[in-house]
Amino acid sequence: MSRKILDVLRDSVPKKTWNNWFSSLEVKKIDHDRVELTVDNLFIKDWLQTRFSKEITNAIRAATGRELPFTIQDKNISSQSKSESVSQESLVRKRPLQLSNLSEECTFENFQFGIENRFLVEAGREISLNPGAYNPLFIYGGVGLGKTHIMQAIARRAMDIHPEKRIIYITSEQFLNEMVVAIKKNEVHRFREEYRRKADALLIDDIQFLVGKKGVQNEFFHTFNHLHDAGKQLVICSDRSPEELEDFHERYVSRFQMGLAIRISEPSEETRFLIAKGLAKRENVEISDEVAWFLARNVDANIRRLRGAIIKMIVQAKIYEQDYDLSLATEVLRSMNIGTFSGQTKSPVELLFSCIKELTGFEKEELLASSRDAERVRARYLFIYGMKNTLGRSINEIASTIRRKHSTVIHALKKIEKALEQKDDTITEPVNRLFTSMSSKSQAS
Ligand code: ADP
Ligand code: MG
Repeated sequence: MSRKILDVLRDSVPKKTWNNWFSSLEVKKIDHDRVELTVDNLFIKDWLQTRFSKEITNAIRAATGRELPFTIQDKNISSQSKSESVSQESLVRKRPLQLSNLSEECTFENFQFGIENRFLVEAGREISLNPGAYNPLFIYGGVGLGKTHIMQAIARRAMDIHPEKRIIYITSEQFLNEMVVAIKKNEVHRFREEYRRKADALLIDDIQFLVGKKGVQNEFFHTFNHLHDAGKQLVICSDRSPEELEDFHERYVSRFQMGLAIRISEPSEETRFLIAKGLAKRENVEISDEVAWFLARNVDANIRRLRGAIIKMIVQAKIYEQDYDLSLATEVLRSMNIGTFSGQTKSPVELLFSCIKELTGFEKEELLASSRDAERVRARYLFIYGMKNTLGRSINEIASTIRRKHSTVIHALKKIEKALEQKDDTITEPVNRLFTSMSSKSQAS
């Protein structure tokens, strides 16, 4: 059965993608309620979870004939921290449904913040204590700023404080998948009941995933209205503000704005220092203040990149028996092309331009110039998509970089998202290559 999962999976992704990301993947265990997978390091784990969870879920379904959730662990770490996994197991036993998709790391205790995100954290804490307090809470902001973390922290704390309540945390993608399965099995009624009647709080991540998917948007809004009218807490998160979710019906957007919409801010340097310390501690290593400041100064606001740097330091320190000192940190940042230690002085945006050049042959100036030539438009759209999804830039920043209107940027994002959804090879292939080459140049999202 394990073999079969891997075989199905191999057939469902391009060969290059397989070699880059899946070669260390192993099926450790197939339980009655989940499948445990392992990979070589945390970076690959994150990557597979964010980019390929749909493919993995499909392969598990095809091989086992069942809808089983999966977990991915780092081979090295999963075998070490026995005590941790024991406590995790007992928690899972207590509340199997609710905890299964929350990461152990995403707690309020682990979330570092300064003045910039205090309001968000306070609002989140209040909601955990009094679900329904601000309804809905809409959290938005760029990639890697901690939206998923804060949402899961709210869910986890709410479960701790109100063990009798049913708190559901789900990504929009999972919501869509469950809905599709329910339709196929003729179980739409059960699906609706599950969310509408049984949820005391619903936290839904990455709502922008529903852009261009009218059917599931409607289903979600029925659920939303139903829960909202019943005073149940809703928390929604997105990479853009409610107003920027252009494809959503106005009625929905105004409902999103009814409660509290908070933008998650980029952490200050001081906060990044605390995050660096905290991230290292989460991986059971101690880094000096000097090294933490160094990382905070040189890695930008995308915390995934900071995490990527720390994980790379850990892996490298382990393999080469190095100390966690400045020279290791410098070496790692240089290898990841981060900050002034990149050896080359290219900014992330310049790096993206050069990746697009490698992929499509178009130079930066050619992308900026006005031309409606189909190939060039496609290259420009890829750049826009890359700026959003590999660099986590806002619509405004993208618009000014590419010297186009706000609405053009949104249109381009929609086009690419739609093509990805429809598995259009002329787009999925270059997007995959873009992610791979950006990640090998920067080692993080
Ligand atoms: P987003 O959902 O906004 O893209 P995530 O919540 O996935 O971002 O955060 C990326 C990573 O950075 C996660 O591992 C998360 O735990 C960590 N992280 C983000 N912000 C913070 C923070 N303020 N303190 C500690 N860890 C953080
Ligand atoms: Mg997220």
